[in-house]
Amino acid sequence: MDASQLILEAIKKNCAVEADLRKLKIEAAGISGNLFRNSDLIAAYTELLSEGKIQPQPSLERILKKARIRTLSGVSPVAVLTKEWGCPGKCIYCPTEKGMPKSYLSNEPAVMRANRVKFDPYLQVKTRLEALTACGHETTKVELIVMGGTFSALPKRYQTWFISRCLEALNEKSKGKKDLESLKKANEKAKHRMVGLTLETRPDCITPAEVKRFLQLGATRVELGAQSTSDEVLRKTKRGHDTASTKNAIKLLKDAGLKVGLHFMPNLPGATPASDFAMFQEVYGSEDYSPDQLKIYPCALIANTELVKWWKQGKWKPYNDATLTKLLAKIKGITPEWIRLSRVIRDIPAESILAGSKITNLRQILQQQGAKCNCIRCREIRGGKIDEKKIKLVRREYAASGGLEIFLSFEEDEKLIALTRLRLQAVKDFAFVRELHTYGEELGIGGRGDSQHRGFGKKLIAEAEKIAKQSGYKKLKIISGVGVREYYRKLGYSLDREKIYMEKKL
Ligand code: SF4
Repeated sequence: MDASQLILEAIKKNCAVEADLRKLKIEAAGISGNLFRNSDLIAAYTELLSEGKIQPQPSLERILKKARIRTLSGVSPVAVLTKEWGCPGKCIYCPTEKGMPKSYLSNEPAVMRANRVKFDPYLQVKTRLEALTACGHETTKVELIVMGGTFSALPKRYQTWFISRCLEALNEKSKGKKDLESLKKANEKAKHRMVGLTLETRPDCITPAEVKRFLQLGATRVELGAQSTSDEVLRKTKRGHDTASTKNAIKLLKDAGLKVGLHFMPNLPGATPASDFAMFQEVYGSEDYSPDQLKIYPCALIANTELVKWWKQGKWKPYNDATLTKLLAKIKGITPEWIRLSRVIRDIPAESILAGSKITNLRQILQQQGAKCNCIRCREIRGGKIDEKKIKLVRREYAASGGLEIFLSFEEDEKLIALTRLRLQAVKDFAFVRELHTYGEELGIGGRGDSQHRGFGKKLIAEAEKIAKQSGYKKLKIISGVGVREYYRKLGYSLDREKIYMEKKL
């Protein structure tokens, strides 16, 4: 039996769940001695389809997709790493490994992928797209995430070259276009559109000029290593900046319409489980923080860090697993609906952790323990069916960095279908839409699925326009990945003079 015959058999037997397909694969292995990989089956399915021998089989397509979760947020994340360069920071917990970007380890999966192609940005994007496609993922909408420590510390020429090469890989055919602006323009209609670009940096690197530079590179989200809300803890860990610079950076980024992700580290020297919980109460409750997204990286002891000395001297010790799990469950329990809790632990290979939690599936453990969480990630619809009659438009408001954030979403009971973030600032010239996202399985541009391409995004933008107009704003500006500009053009928006935002007079 070959892969095509197995696909025909699966259609005949009406395979609708993963277990049905697995059973067939095992049976086929008994006959042919060959256990087919999902990528072989996808290739065979695609060929049968293109030859017209079969009709599209949506349920089979769905179960053929391995690790579907990766594109269930509606876009394909592609993480790329910049080369080794160092960082102005001297944080006592941060590892240094020769040849690796500061704070990254050579045995982390994303680093291994980057290292294999010598950190070449073009090849990193190209090979990642190929791998996602081979697993049956749709890759027309790509969220590019640039990792590697402090992006601002890299030479500006390298930064521009790095993003340009990523765009070249996404565009596939750039017809000799090499400069960043032409590559961004070409990406507006490319096969793989960059719908978001995330850059990570230190809070004290954020100035008005740096914000402008990030915007020109095409950034839509900036992730800041905030790490603690205590100046004393920041000082003890030699972080090199204080909480005032974190608050200032958050305001500058939000006032420029950017999305803000913050990283925090519980269990730093000087912290206790009680002070860590209080830290998250402050992060959620204070208008100076209120991030859009949060990554929690509990401090772990890694070789080649100053913290090893502290640990040996008994000046610091990690929480045990039970204490850490309890703390994270409590933090999840108070997370507001407008924040996406993207990570609750950093995925450091166990062999590199000298002391500290080695559990990498903490999120699943917390779920099994019944920890309640209202964050965006826990409520995303993820390919589930929707019942149009039950869908409600929900409006939530909160003050943030001197502005009013209006978080609008379409929800069905506890499930989050789509969201937008409208920011009303003191200056009445324009309001900002900082985010628009429809969840559910990624579909190609113009496709139609359970939640994507059902007009939820359009309705949310219309509601945001209505609110902004009623509040006295003359214009709405939207921070848009270059690959989403075409979508906003259809809604009556055009690129502003500086070629940064999509805008529309109200
Ligand atoms: S700022 Fe980040 S990359 Fe730099 S030393 Fe500190 S933790 Fe490491």
